[in-house]
Amino acid sequence: MYSVEWQKRGLPHAHILIWLYNKITSDEIDDVICAEIPRADVDKDLHAVIIKNMIHGPCGMLNPNSPCMVDGKCSKKYPRAFTANTITGDDGYPRYRRRSTEDGGNSVALYICKMVLLI
Ligand SMILES: [Zn+2]
Repeated sequence: MYSVEWQKRGLPHAHILIWLYNKITSDEIDDVICAEIPRADVDKDLHAVIIKNMIHGPCGMLNPNSPCMVDGKCSKKYPRAFTANTITGDDGYPRYRRRSTEDGGNSVALYICKMVLLI
């Protein structure tokens, strides 16, 4: 089941619900969901799409007037902490693996309005 919605800037996004025949365990989530920046040398097109469309911000101290800012904080909870492994929480929402560069994750330098963001 899925529902396609359009964000304020007209970008479509989908909420997708998939029923599985066999339950997957927390250590198998990374096999089907990735919340990390893909490596450009592995999939250049996917890397370009993610960098162009899926990076939040800038907000916080860099852009306190960003629409996501509420009472001086990002209402979307960015920037989020790095997580070496996917963790399933008590609230039913997993915290997907987002490794730091020290743990083997990727980073990019984004140039936005003459600012450089290291993500
Ligand atoms: Zn934000």
